[in-house]
Amino acid sequence: TPAKRYGVIGHPIEHSRSPQIHTQFASQFNLALSYERILAPLDGFSATVEAFFKDGSGLNVTLPFKEQAYDLVGPRLSRRARMAGAVNTLWLEEGQLHGCNTDGVGLCSDLLRVGHNPEGKRILLIGAGGASRGVVFPLLEAGCEMLHIINRTSAKAYDIREQVVALDPDASRRLSAGGLDDHCGDWDIVINATSASLNQNLPELPDARYRSNSLAYDMFYASEPTAFMRAAEQAGATHSKDGLGMLVGQAAASFQIWHGVEADVEPVLAKLRQDIGQV
Ligand code: NDP
Repeated sequence: TPAKRYGVIGHPIEHSRSPQIHTQFASQFNLALSYERILAPLDGFSATVEAFFKDGSGLNVTLPFKEQAYDLVGPRLSRRARMAGAVNTLWLEEGQLHGCNTDGVGLCSDLLRVGHNPEGKRILLIGAGGASRGVVFPLLEAGCEMLHIINRTSAKAYDIREQVVALDPDASRRLSAGGLDDHCGDWDIVINATSASLNQNLPELPDARYRSNSLAYDMFYASEPTAFMRAAEQAGATHSKDGLGMLVGQAAASFQIWHGVEADVEPVLAKLRQDIGQV
């Protein structure tokens, strides 16, 4: 039988590291599979997905199609996908398309890996785009004491809160939202989920206070520590980490959905760090 086909679909897609990650996971289990980069035209997402699943087995979805993937799956969404309003993992079950979102699980597993279990923590989440939306429910599920979302456009932070509370009213006690300046108290974990690091800008963070043994986590990653990581350490964060572990973590969660096995993240992460020029 030919190797099963998997892939990642996006626009653009050249930059995606998913093929390397999934190929290395597969070799841990001697699994024969192919994993392709698939460029979908901006107006042709669903047609490209449909064509792929004629003989394909699973797809990761990246920018800008995660919301479209959510719509495409219809009722066969996992609870996490529903909470996120976005899908990054697609597969077929009995001929029907199913969808999940593994970004948040990827973040939570990475926080555990680096020794900062979200359970019982006060967490400040900066940004309210797709990445932020995907991690809110898993952070609550992981048992954080308080999760406060702040965003330049405060309405988007309030929207995320409202959507999660509508699906899980119990979340209302632990989840709050506001504008970028709208935060007080001190934090165990501060997460940068804005795209500001892309051009080494910093979101305005006047007086975020860090607790002892705190972590500043940037979802972005580069060959050097990001501007956010450096500024956070100046401001008193005990540790800082970039988002490469989250990337490998979300891939491992997708891999588990597709293949039913738990891949070893560490060697793949180490190789990736080497590839992007981190020491
Ligand atoms: P979106 O475009 O959906 O959201 C961008 C967010 O950044 C918005 O909240 C936006 O605020 C904010 N923002 C942009 N520029 C600034 C600025 N100069 N100052 C303050 N806020 C700003 O992006 P995503 O949510 O998809 O991605 C966010 C980041 O997370 C990216 O860097 C991406 O690479 C990273 N990411 C990492 C993953 C990983 O596995 N490590 C997974 C997914 C994403 P506003 O709403 O006001 O415009």
